[in-house]
Parts: sequence; structure tokens; C-alpha cells
Amino acid sequence: MTAPYLAGVDIGGTKITVSLANTNGISVKVYQNVRLEGSHTAIPEQVDFLIGYACNQIGVQPDDIMAVGVSSCGPFMKEMGQVQLVAPNLCGGLVKDRDIIPNNWTWIPLESVLSRRWGTLKIENDAVAAVVAERLFGAGRGEDDLVYVTWSTGIGGGAYIDGRLIHGKNGNAPHIGHIYLAEDGPQCGCGNFGDMESLVSGVAIARDYGGRGTAEDVFKAYHSGDRKAKEIISKAIRNFARGLASINAILDTGVIVIGGSVFMNNIDILLPGIKDEFYRSFPVLSEGVDIRPSALGTYLGDMAALSLVMPDEWIRKWQENELWELAPPAVVLDR
Ligand SMILES: [Zn+2]
Repeated sequence: MTAPYLAGVDIGGTKITVSLANTNGISVKVYQNVRLEGSHTAIPEQVDFLIGYACNQIGVQPDDIMAVGVSSCGPFMKEMGQVQLVAPNLCGGLVKDRDIIPNNWTWIPLESVLSRRWGTLKIENDAVAAVVAERLFGAGRGEDDLVYVTWSTGIGGGAYIDGRLIHGKNGNAPHIGHIYLAEDGPQCGCGNFGDMESLVSGVAIARDYGGRGTAEDVFKAYHSGDRKAKEIISKAIRNFARGLASINAILDTGVIVIGGSVFMNNIDILLPGIKDEFYRSFPVLSEGVDIRPSALGTYLGDMAALSLVMPDEWIRKWQENELWELAPPAVVLDR
């Protein structure tokens, strides 16, 4: 056996990324569009294939993988203690009359399939895995009361309270995107009307502008002085900050780390506005909460998955040398 490796698997709504790491850093990274057709075991089988493919790229035997960490979009359900994915952006059978996903799955047996092959396996919601990574390697280093929120095509969250990572009965806590913010609002992909994701996600920003472009197009319009774009983005900022205030009212946190592509690409516009609105909320609760951008940025997906299974004796070396920054570019697989 050669030096042991970890596999980090990041399952998103559009692609799966697998990275293999050893004590010296990330050795290889591959990604492929997520398979949304065929049997409902297609995604875990694709994960098996991609880990094998990555091993092959660097001449490592799959037996040398000592642990697999999986960071996945959710939500999860647990059946006999095993994680199933019940994610509306992967399972086409979950929300009626919404046929944008080309399958009829209502759940994906992620853990039962992967655990057949991988003995040491840890699966977490992607935002939960992200808070683990930010606490070990990023903007929340060493913080015992820490919330991570992603502002991307969707909205997600993960949290430590009193130094303990919180999970809840199915591992979904705190699923911040689906807290209600408005009595009457647009419909979310989950079926709710007026929840945080339905009001502020990247998809929502693009929809509010007319639905022909992306959220980034709306930010471009904002920069060129477009009044409608300014209104939409200001409203999204207010609603996002109110979501943060709500989660803080429940969790009484010390630090909030924000990541996700919508936020990270537009920190200059979004962060000051979020702070303005957040600190306007009940001062006894909001004062002293530190709001920071993610420090891992584009490395967060890989590090979230790897952090779940990284041995303690590797962590200090990775922290001191910021080894994630040496990751090679991803090998992109055609379907
Ligand atoms: Zn929702």
C-alpha cells in the first residue's frame, strides 16, 4: 500500500467533483455533469466511477482510499440511519407540475450504495460540510458559535453551537433557504411560497429581472446604473439580511461566514448592504455578531468534502501551508 489518500466528493445540482488528497495536498480533481437519467442509483454509481477514474489518473489503487467524504446538496432523509437524497434539483418526482428534471425519482439511495464500496464514509449536506471547512481552514477558524450561509443558485446553511456541529434528525439543520420571510411570495423549487430561497437566490434575482438572463446579468445592469436592477438587488439584500437575523435569533451565533457564487462575485455591493440591514435588527441579538466573507472561496467545495474525513494529524500541516491553494486544475469529463 502506498501513502493513504482521501476522496472528497462534492455533489451539486449540475456537476459532481471528486478530488483525491494525501498529506501533501490535493493530487487530482475530476468533474463531470451530474447524471439525472436512468435508475435512481445513477448518482452514487457515478460517484464510484469518478473515484475510480481519479485513482487511475494518478496511479493509485481504490484500496488506498482510506476514507470518503461526501458534501451533497440536500435535503436528506434518513432511513435505517442511512442518508438518502431527497433533493428537488436532482429528483424530478418530488414536486408536481415541475418537469425540468428528466427523471421521476423521489429519493436517491446515496449512502446504501456508496457504503457497499467505501468502508469509511461520511456524508453531510453541502452547507454543513462548508461550515466544517470554514471552521478548520477558513474565515471561521476556531470559532465555537459559527454559522455558514451560502448565497448561490440556492440558499443553504450550516452551524456550530457551543463548539458542536448541529445536524437534526435528518442532518438538515439549519436549512435556512426554506424559512418563510413573506406571507405572499413567489414559489420556491421546494414548493413553498415566500421563503428565503424564493426571494433572494440567484434564480430569484434573474426571475425578478425578467428571467431571460442570469443573476450575473442583473449585477452587470446594476453596475451600469439600471434602476430596476438596483431595486431588485436592494430588495434581495434586505431579505437576505433578514434571513440572517432570523437564524441568529434562533442560534445566538458569534460569527456568520457568507459564501456562494452570487455573494462572492459581488461582495462589494452585497456585504455593506447586508451589514446595514442586519445590525438594524434587534440590537441585543445582532450587536457583536461578526459577518465575514468565506476565506476558502473557490476551494470551498473540495475542502468541505475533504474536511469531513481529514485525520487530525494532517490538519495542522494543511492549515500552515494552505495546501488547498496548490490544487491542480480539474480534469473535465465528457458525459
Ligand atoms: Zn424553499
